[in-house]
Amino acid sequence: MNPLRTLILAAAGNDTIRHLVATAPVSRDVVRRFVAGETTQDAVHATRGLVESGLSVTLDYLGEDTTDRDQAERTVQAYLELLDKLHSDGLADRAEVSVKLSAVGQALDERLALENASRICAAAEQAGTTVTLDMEDHTTTDSTLGTLRELRRSWPWVGGVLQSYLHRTLDDATALSGEGSRIRLCKGAYNEPESVAYIDQHDVDLSYVRCANALLSGEGYPMFATHDPRLIEIIGERARWYGRKPGSYEYQMLYGVRPDEQRRLAGSGETVRVYIPYGEEWYGYLMRRMAERPANTAFFLRSLVSKS
Ligand SMILES: Cc1cc2nc3c(=O)[nH]c(=O)nc-3n(C[C@H](O)[C@H](O)[C@H](O)COP(=O)(O)OP(=O)(O)OC[C@H]3O[C@@H](n4cnc5c(N)ncnc54)[C@H](O)[C@@H]3O)c2cc1C
Repeated sequence: MNPLRTLILAAAGNDTIRHLVATAPVSRDVVRRFVAGETTQDAVHATRGLVESGLSVTLDYLGEDTTDRDQAERTVQAYLELLDKLHSDGLADRAEVSVKLSAVGQALDERLALENASRICAAAEQAGTTVTLDMEDHTTTDSTLGTLRELRRSWPWVGGVLQSYLHRTLDDATALSGEGSRIRLCKGAYNEPESVAYIDQHDVDLSYVRCANALLSGEGYPMFATHDPRLIEIIGERARWYGRKPGSYEYQMLYGVRPDEQRRLAGSGETVRVYIPYGEEWYGYLMRRMAERPANTAFFLRSLVSKS
């Protein structure tokens, strides 16, 4: 892994750096570029803007690695409030939610995470929308896919996420390419060891294409989460090769990343879904975005030094 990426991911766990970033005035601008705000109202406001410009949305209430039942409960309540608001504002047909199981208690007790995720799925069904379970580090992959299977017994539309940097993912993609299966394919955002993941970016990209083929040749609904121009082009070609019509798969990108490309793809008739993070726990999320793109980091560090 790129040493800068490793350093930034390590900084994500450092309290002193967290305090520095969270209190520096410039941070707020950088945060606003990638995070919609801290409240349900902020999230719904950002959703409305994107939906009006022809995009779809998935919303993530930020927070992860909870080892506190009360915190897990607050996360569930935040999703219930959000789903209610999306429904009452008429946005639910274009806006779903993304949930991290570690934010609803996975590290405490898998049954608790399943129960909490079930409550969110039931509320999503009532609101008229769907849920996708985000994928976290590789130690949670089996547990998360197990919970996905359980949830799909009651709500077959629950989406899952696969990460192309993991060696196992082609097998998972093949297994999860059945009828109606909503699967987001991404490269993967965690700092993983060589024993389980491809380290070379080119290998991660080749794996992405192999997994995309497995999903597109199946009968599910693949969701291609990437900003990579080369992969976006290849996905378009492969989709045509497999006779996929726009709308039988979708592209996904992060809020604030390549917004022109999001609009261009949507304008060409593709379904494009923007992942909107919101909430007070934005620090870990922001650090992962920094780790992905040295240009963002350089911009950020320069601003921190010159204005704080
Ligand atoms: C909707 C969505 C959901 C995700 N969910 C998960 C998840 O559940 N679990 C998980 O581990 N990861 C998730 N990720 C993160 C993902 O795994 C990657 O870490 C992240 O998307 C960066 O990979 P990339 O495919 O965009 O390619 P990268 O290799 O980061 O970038 C490739 C190229 O894309 C272009 N690009 C990238 N960023 C920018 C930018 N800011 N501005 C301009 N061009 C840019 C550049 O040309 C760059 O060279 C998600 C990503 C998205 C988009």
